[in-house]
Amino acid sequence: MRVNAYAAPSAGQPLAPITIERREVGANDVLIEIQYAGICHSDIHTVNGDWGPQPFPVVPGHEIVGVVAEIGSDVTRHAVGDRVGVGCLVNSCRECANCEKGNEQYCLNGAIGTYAATDRDGTTTQGGYSTHVVVDADFVVRVPDGLDAAAAAPLLCAGITTYSPLRHWNAGPGTKVAVVGLGGLGHMAVKLAHALGAEVTVLSQSLKKQEDGLRLGADDYFATSDPDTFKALRGRFALIINTVSATIDLDAYLRLLAVDGTLVNVGAPPEPLSVRVGNLIGGRRSFAGSAIGGIAETQEMLDFCAEHGIGAEVEVIPVDQVNEAYERVLASDVRYRFVIDASTLA
Ligand code: NAP
Ligand code: ZN
Ligand code: ZN
Repeated sequence: MRVNAYAAPSAGQPLAPITIERREVGANDVLIEIQYAGICHSDIHTVNGDWGPQPFPVVPGHEIVGVVAEIGSDVTRHAVGDRVGVGCLVNSCRECANCEKGNEQYCLNGAIGTYAATDRDGTTTQGGYSTHVVVDADFVVRVPDGLDAAAAAPLLCAGITTYSPLRHWNAGPGTKVAVVGLGGLGHMAVKLAHALGAEVTVLSQSLKKQEDGLRLGADDYFATSDPDTFKALRGRFALIINTVSATIDLDAYLRLLAVDGTLVNVGAPPEPLSVRVGNLIGGRRSFAGSAIGGIAETQEMLDFCAEHGIGAEVEVIPVDQVNEAYERVLASDVRYRFVIDASTLA
């Protein structure tokens, strides 16, 4: 099946229309007619070559919401007409210790990404900036009724990437959580941490988005451009979720952790980050990382969001505005996730 899509032709080049081939619907596959695809900063890192060479042309997009248009003969968990989502993973080995625990994102045999990855059949996966996608049914999740489709799309990456570490490090009532960077991931971290009952502080470059941050559920909001912030908050947090796409002075943030606190990097800057170990030793602190979440946990997160009425704050755009949206994300001018209306690809 040939479908319309938008692709980056090579590293750093603007995205442009393309047609791509989607595989035939196999026995355990689902054909999804895409409604919305979120724009994640990882899409931008990938097509700009920040993370190394890519198999261009690359169709990005791993925050996909759509409707099931066709199912394979063995599919029982999804039916034609269901509203479904696909995140960053479209396959894994299902047999290794990590897959067996539901951590498909850490598959020891290599999880297969939604785009720019080599699929089981040797073809290159192509993502959600497209009208349709064919995905193994086990990697397709249900989007509960009550969630707006456009607002649900970013949950498939930004939502799960922040939900998973908040749950793993037990954010809840009585926990002081800081979120560094109020972009796509950051604004979801604020909403989710607040819904989990934690006390939430935003650490943003400036106070420009303070009103929004408090509305989204933050209890406190500080500008990291103000050196006094780092004095005032010293030793305060049990958990810091760093969503920043660039390198930051980790040492300054580690000193904001209480004893036994953890700073989790979900932001994935191209350059290495350095740490003075004294800032870990003096407080038995941890520096950690976390990648998206497994499939079952993604479903749990969507159900949690439906129960708590949580969606992303989105700016829906036609696909021909994607390059402009990329520029605005790079300029930290996103409130708080761009989402492509896939009907504009038809
Ligand atoms: P985003 O919407 O661009 O948000 C990043 C935010 O970081 C910006 O809005 C800005 O917030 C802050 N920021 C940007 N540049 C900065 C700088 N030089 N210094 C300090 N703060 C800066 O991006 P996103 O889509 O949320 O993604 C964030 C990062 O997470 C990316 O690196 C992405 O690749 C990564 N990611 C990782 C995973 C995972 O599984 N671990 C999943 C998805 C994304 P303020 O304006 O509030 O300062
Ligand atoms: Zn993403
Ligand atoms: Zn595996």
